[in-house]
Amino acid sequence: MELEEYCFETKLLHNRHKVDSVTGAVSVPIQHASTFHQFDIDQFGKYDYARSLNPTREALEEVISELEGGVKGFAFSSGMAAISTAFLLLSAGDHVIITEDVYGGTYRMVTEVLSRLGIEHSFVDMTDIDQVKQAIKPNTKAFYVETPSNPLLKVTDIKAISQMAKEIGALTFVDNTFQTPALQKPLELGADVVLHSATKFLSGHSDVVAGLAVVKDKGLANRLGFLQNSFGAVLGVQDAWLVLRGLKTLHVRLEHSQKSALQIASFLEKHPLVKNVFYPGLPNHPQRELLDVQTQGAGAVLSFELVDEEAVRTFVSSVKLPVFAVSLGAVESILSYPAKMSHAAMPQAEREKRGIKNSLLRLSVGLENPDDLIRDFSQALEQVQQKKLVLQQGE
Ligand SMILES: *Cc1c(COP(=O)(O)O)cnc(C)c1O
Repeated sequence: MELEEYCFETKLLHNRHKVDSVTGAVSVPIQHASTFHQFDIDQFGKYDYARSLNPTREALEEVISELEGGVKGFAFSSGMAAISTAFLLLSAGDHVIITEDVYGGTYRMVTEVLSRLGIEHSFVDMTDIDQVKQAIKPNTKAFYVETPSNPLLKVTDIKAISQMAKEIGALTFVDNTFQTPALQKPLELGADVVLHSATKFLSGHSDVVAGLAVVKDKGLANRLGFLQNSFGAVLGVQDAWLVLRGLKTLHVRLEHSQKSALQIASFLEKHPLVKNVFYPGLPNHPQRELLDVQTQGAGAVLSFELVDEEAVRTFVSSVKLPVFAVSLGAVESILSYPAKMSHAAMPQAEREKRGIKNSLLRLSVGLENPDDLIRDFSQALEQVQQKKLVLQQGE
């Protein structure tokens, strides 16, 4: 059998870097050298200087490219470094259409950095294709998609957006951090550039900050490679190794967490103190059908709204299992507060316009037994209820 015929979880382990061709080592060697001796003055070797290319980062770049079905992968020092470098494909005077509930760091980059460099933007609700179409301008050069979006888990039709982009000669960027290639392959759906915060599910252990990009066109690969080397925000070799190591268990981690996420979402949905649950795996999610066509699963991130901000405070101080932190996609469950964490870079008015309320919490489900998590949430919600009763009696 050829490598490309194996199933995804097999490919995670059996790729061309499963053994080192020189020593037979079953773990990719970490090559620290910053520079490489040239044996011939006329003919330089494949590696010359480590910013341009080094064997450890190259292994990760090849692995992610294969998993996403691209021609070339690129590893960066953070998800934001990958995203920012990809945006450098644009020039002053260009216009980009962006999903409105985009990651807070990307929002900051677009509104405060790109705008200063003369790159315009429009935020739209990308679940509404007509709205996207209406936002097109003569200088629109890129569409930026995050699906499911953060933190409201709205699903965007990657195929429809890519088609629209192609018609006007624009590029489609997809931030695939939430789904990973285990669940969603944007390049196969027509996207041009896939972006990742590999800090999240791909590495999976809350122990490395990293970013990845993959493209499927050789010309675009050359342009992005040139930008990676010019801008220089490359991933270090230790960190590249950590991502390679984390990747091996991506499939089993996601499978477990995703199953638990559905159980937890169903529990929260039935609880009287929970106003709203946002999880694309729930049967009543507005884009459930699209999700089923476009991806292999709903992922392991969900958001929920409690009755008010006071309830959020009590809930957060009462839960025992999840860490209360920025980030997602790890072995431990992570509870975060978008208004003060991932979306703090977004002004309150902009947040509210997008439905990111002060009563909203986001949960990234880890590898704990889901029954333990549900018991923990149950007791925390009980605390919320108690506090409410005390407040009511005081009135
Ligand atoms: C975390 C995150 C980023 C930014 O990645 P860093 O590795 O933190 O720079 C971008 N997009 C999404 C969806 C994220 O969750």
